[in-house]
Amino acid sequence: MNIHEYQAKELYRQYGVPTPQGFAAFTVDEAVEAARKLPGPLWVVKAQIHAGGRGKGKFKEFSAGEKGGVRLARSIDEVALFAKQMLGATLVTAQTGGEGRKVRRLYIENGSAIDRELYLSAIIDRGSSRVAFIASTEGGMDIEEVAHKTPEKILTISIDPAAGYFPFEGRKIAFALGLAGDQVKQCVKLIGDLYRMFVEKDMSLLEINPLVVTKSGDLLCLDGKMNFDSNALFRHPEILKMRDIDEEDPSEVEASKYDLSYVKLDGSIGCMVNGAGLAMATMDIIKLYGMEPANFLDVGGGATKDKVKAAFKIILSDPNVKGILINIFGGIMRCDVIAEGVVAAAREMAINAPLVVRLEGTNVELGKQILAQSGLTITPADNLSDAAAKITAAVKMKEAA
Ligand code: GDP
Ligand code: MN
Repeated sequence: MNIHEYQAKELYRQYGVPTPQGFAAFTVDEAVEAARKLPGPLWVVKAQIHAGGRGKGKFKEFSAGEKGGVRLARSIDEVALFAKQMLGATLVTAQTGGEGRKVRRLYIENGSAIDRELYLSAIIDRGSSRVAFIASTEGGMDIEEVAHKTPEKILTISIDPAAGYFPFEGRKIAFALGLAGDQVKQCVKLIGDLYRMFVEKDMSLLEINPLVVTKSGDLLCLDGKMNFDSNALFRHPEILKMRDIDEEDPSEVEASKYDLSYVKLDGSIGCMVNGAGLAMATMDIIKLYGMEPANFLDVGGGATKDKVKAAFKIILSDPNVKGILINIFGGIMRCDVIAEGVVAAAREMAINAPLVVRLEGTNVELGKQILAQSGLTITPADNLSDAAAKITAAVKMKEAA
């Protein structure tokens, strides 16, 4: 789960991580009120969307290039003007895709005098099974470029979970960032506080880009991107409260209500599969046969008829789906439950796309019987490649017709 920058900055404050003063605003009036509470004379009006690259982003509604999602205001009147322009407008950045994101919230922050922009992030490094910090002097807006062109400018340090964080690790990062004197001390404390926050809050990603050195020589976290491990949210109601459903894909929100593992993708073959491994294999084989999956969907082991029905309805409601492949290997999952769920969904929604079903395992005969008696037009398949060959051929044939 992702949260907004202003929420991330609330967490910074709780952990003693230095960040400028600021307030969230949902209306122009709130933006003005927020700006009045801040000393100025510079304010930053920041669009709150779950995507980066806002500074270089463009609003669909405005043609002029200068109207990005992070703007420096030199008066309260300017704060009001920028807030008015941004609220309700659609911001397109390198990370939003062409359709962009509607801005519904703003963050009004006290402006900082920046000397240098640095990059700092923390992730879970699956290779070493540790939290790793990544630091670079090349902060600001183009860290992806740095990783491609000058990987030597990036330092990675991983923290031993048993031993915990040591100040020398923070010093290493400080030196790699070109910090000196009191800034080194600040950096050692900063990394320690961030590590504690990362572990205590079950984060899976933390990115501070930029971490800045101000003109007065202090470190300040100017941006905050945070992602939390969804499997640990049950023990963080305070984080769950920060969820913004407007920022999530509606079909993924629907899927999460039924505890389905669903990820929407760009292709045209809708897949309903049980088991994450089988789902991956199914997606792979669709690609092998020259098409792309429209989604990843694992209905799980102990799915009920209602859950299967919800899953199938989500696939049917995706306008990009041109063909559907149901691939079930019934172990704990029973094939008849899958069949009943599919039939129940088909009673409520029309199936206009070709449907290929491969069922195997527990209660397979009963499952096939339920589907056969349902009146649905179904192409049965015997195995994975047969299923992929049949669904891709059916979609191509329909498109040619
Ligand atoms: P992003 O583009 O979505 O990553 O948004 P950021 O919060 O990182 O802001 C983008 C850029 O705006 C930063 O890299 C800074 O160059 C600039 N910026 C943000 N806040 C301030 C500020 O308080 N003062 C100044 N001078 N520049 C700022
Ligand atoms: Mn940033």
